[in-house]
Amino acid sequence: MPKSLFICPDCGADLERNPHTLRCANGHCFDIAKEGYVNLLPANRRHSSTPGDDREMVNARTAFLNGGWYAPLKDRLCETVAAWNAEEPVLLDAGCGEGYYTEALCGAVAEKGGRVCGVDLSKAAARRAAKRCPQAEIAVASVYRLPLADRSADILFNCFSPLADGEFRRVLKPGGLFLYVVPGPKHLWELKEILYENPYENELREESYFGFRAMPEIPLQFRFRLQRREEIAALFHMTPYTWKTPKAGAERLAELQELEVTAEFRILRFQRSGEDQGRH
Ligand SMILES: [Zn+2]
Repeated sequence: MPKSLFICPDCGADLERNPHTLRCANGHCFDIAKEGYVNLLPANRRHSSTPGDDREMVNARTAFLNGGWYAPLKDRLCETVAAWNAEEPVLLDAGCGEGYYTEALCGAVAEKGGRVCGVDLSKAAARRAAKRCPQAEIAVASVYRLPLADRSADILFNCFSPLADGEFRRVLKPGGLFLYVVPGPKHLWELKEILYENPYENELREESYFGFRAMPEIPLQFRFRLQRREEIAALFHMTPYTWKTPKAGAERLAELQELEVTAEFRILRFQRSGEDQGRH
């Protein structure tokens, strides 16, 4: 039976892929849902109520991303992965959401003969990602406790998701690539101008992490024009502003028929260094 890219969340042993289950040598068994994802939260959390993004937020993000507005980011990420010197790479999408970027990265990795896996804490997101990326392995899991063996990934991708640098350091091979997308200072500036009386720019932070060597970042800025209320609403509901916007701001936005917005991303690249072996 082929080996899964994931390991058993209960004992850490390898998992064998069967048609409907993942199974470790110690008898722990995980059902593959009909959509193709598997729940690999540790036993004490597997049956807890749905953590992670709720269905509404996942739906908004799916609707917005399917509009293709962030395609320039997707394309740049694929180019970056395609240019990375690794043979048959294993790519982990840590916080894969509904799989919009995962799907594109599957294509880039497949050209190198590699494999992709993705995790997300949200079952609703994992379900969509699995449907979208049948060639990838998708699991419900936390980025703070990844179901992957030490040094098993060549590329780790994280886009606007919680950062768990200790876990990322553990699962990346020395020399591996950590691709980390964060919002730039002007990201969604015009949206914030509508929502807030005094909008502020995102902080431009110098990111550095133990065990990683920073490579030049790839800046990316572009504009797009939303011309339907539903598109504007979908963009709003996939941002964190949806939780913390004053009522007046949300009402101003709801009145808009169209909105031209700046998207600004920082594609940060780090190479896992090898000199701290044994330390996590
Ligand atoms: Zn096990």
